[in-house]
Amino acid sequence: MKTASAFLPTPARYLLRFDDLCPTVARERWRQCRALIHEFHIRPILAVVPDNLDRELRVSPADARFWRELCTLEQAGATIGLHGYHHLRQSRGRSFVPLQRFSEFAGVPGHWQRTWISEGLDILRRHGLNPKIWVAPMHGFDGNTLRALKDECIHLLSDGLARVPFVRGGLTWIPQQLWAPLEKAQGLWTICIHPNTASAAQVEALRAFLRGHAHQFTSVDSVVAELPRGALTVGEQIYAQMALRRILMGRVKRRLAERQQKHTWS
Ligand SMILES: [Zn+2]
Repeated sequence: MKTASAFLPTPARYLLRFDDLCPTVARERWRQCRALIHEFHIRPILAVVPDNLDRELRVSPADARFWRELCTLEQAGATIGLHGYHHLRQSRGRSFVPLQRFSEFAGVPGHWQRTWISEGLDILRRHGLNPKIWVAPMHGFDGNTLRALKDECIHLLSDGLARVPFVRGGLTWIPQQLWAPLEKAQGLWTICIHPNTASAAQVEALRAFLRGHAHQFTSVDSVVAELPRGALTVGEQIYAQMALRRILMGRVKRRLAERQQKHTWS
């Protein structure tokens, strides 16, 4: 396999991804996010839960306009992502991107994963959407997930911590490394926003970032067409490992600080 992924786009390019979209998404916050997509002509990844059973994602009453709005966004250049099936935390299997302890998919037998992926795609297509990319809930997916996706002709996924797209397990991985806008000198960076939990201040921060950087935002279609893809170089693999370690260590430190604060207050 060729190793083409040493090339870091300069200046940096960004992708925007909105997660946990379903008819009960936080209505007002999602409206504000859509306003930003229109205002700055962004072509984001929209990660949609086909048949949501996760209570945490039932924030607003189900909106009858939801699916029609997604179709409009897709027509304007957004890429539809399959974000799991029910979005349930039911497995503790180890994921390729071990950022969370629980997962909907990682560790689940292959035949179940195949069924859920196939039914999930069917649901989105019945709503008039054309899902092109896999977005694993809780970053949880394994070899069986990749095989099921390939069987369904889905060859793209949004995950991983490298700074360039790469090929692994027969799929093209478009990394997702940020959960808030952050200026970078080079590389391809996906910023993931959760409309259900984003604060007004976070949406404002995104608007401020888009004001200065909208021209650096790209789309999945452009990434696939323009950026070289191959196996990750050893250097980039090490970078991704270090990034994973930094994120996990940051979490431990935050948890310890919170515990210490609680101790001080009690
Ligand atoms: Zn999710």
